[in-house]
Amino acid sequence: MTAVRVVPLSAGECLNIAALTERGAAWRVRAYPAGFALLLHPARGAVLFDTGYSFRVPALMRRWPGLLYGLVTPVRLRPWQTPLAQLARLGITAQDVRHLIVSHLHADHVGALRDFPAAELHLDAGAYPPLRNLRGLRAVRRAFLPELLPPDFEARSRALTFEPAPPAFAPFETVADVFGDGSVYALPVPGHAPGMIALVVRTRDAAALDGNGLGLTLLASDAAWSVKAARSGEAGHALSNVLFWDAVQGQRSREHLRDWLAAHPRTRVIVSHDAPEPEHDV
Ligand SMILES: [Zn+2]
Repeated sequence: MTAVRVVPLSAGECLNIAALTERGAAWRVRAYPAGFALLLHPARGAVLFDTGYSFRVPALMRRWPGLLYGLVTPVRLRPWQTPLAQLARLGITAQDVRHLIVSHLHADHVGALRDFPAAELHLDAGAYPPLRNLRGLRAVRRAFLPELLPPDFEARSRALTFEPAPPAFAPFETVADVFGDGSVYALPVPGHAPGMIALVVRTRDAAALDGNGLGLTLLASDAAWSVKAARSGEAGHALSNVLFWDAVQGQRSREHLRDWLAAHPRTRVIVSHDAPEPEHDV
């Protein structure tokens, strides 16, 4: 079996009111990392899961209608935090990235998509169509900034192929084997955004999908605001649903993740806007 190394990274931070993301938290502003991940695949090379921000995002937030987005979730980004700068420090160039898996199309996840012109873009077939014709304020209301997509976005997009899930993925009914080698699986977790996906990555050769989770990493994207919430299935504050695509679907996706994690508790959990869990040794 193929094992993949997962390197959690973040490109900038968004500022948000803590009480909106976590029940019982204070009504004050907190900085949340705009997480993405580098997957080092033995055959596919440097693969990205999302990108975090680039300076295109704050630039769009300086003019209407991106201005509104910037008022709701202001962005903090420094030159050494961009994905290109961080990958360069690891000896990886933009051209080296041939595969980029997109969890969903919110601006904090595709902010640097245009920086990777050589990458095939893997995403759920349901992620783009509901947003495709939105412009201006209607797009911003969905946390979507169409200007962030490269001009050849559709030509480079590859729809993930979902198939009936083996019992190890229950309660998920379908799963996509992204590279066809059993190393990276996409799970459907729509709700927060249309067609959102999470990933289960095999980080050890011997990791069993139907075991206790040791040797697996779950990249939950925005299906939960924190690692704790991913494990408990707890939702954010009702107000944070304002930007949600489909709250009922979101609830179902959270329950699926919670139940899958309960069955595989040693899985390492990484969500986009919280510190990543350390790897479990035993
Ligand atoms: Zn999001």
